Amino acid sequence: MNNYFSEHEHYTAIRIPQVIETSVKKRIQSGILNQEDVQRAENAALSAVRKYAQREICLSKALENLQTYEDLLFSSRDYSEAYARTLSERPWEKCDCRVCKEVGVEVIIFRGFNRNKRRGFHNLNYSYQQLKKERDTMT
Ligand SMILES: [Zn+2]
Repeated sequence: MNNYFSEHEHYTAIRIPQVIETSVKKRIQSGILNQEDVQRAENAALSAVRKYAQREICLSKALENLQTYEDLLFSSRDYSEAYARTLSERPWEKCDCRVCKEVGVEVIIFRGFNRNKRRGFHNLNYSYQQLKKERDTMT
């Protein structure tokens, strides 16, 4: 699980792999997947999450777009429940760390190295704050 840590509980990051990621690319090259379909579904999934964060579309619409992309790539997987929780509770709006303030919902999208690094920063910052709190209660 690619988690996003927060005060009370942890959340499942929303996985939207890039078409250029090797496992996806291989399946396109071997003709199992159609590149245009995949690209279209990828863009739709990404923009759905962003629109949802901006409160432009409802949760079910966002989940529907995520599931369409997910079905195309990993036909048997269904994370809708975990994703519904992540999206509906909007943990990125409640975090005060620099990354969440700067990038908002992007922090919970799991794809590509740079994004994962940013979520890593958020998680590290969270762990550091927890450690500091523990230390402060001990002294
Ligand atoms: Zn954060």
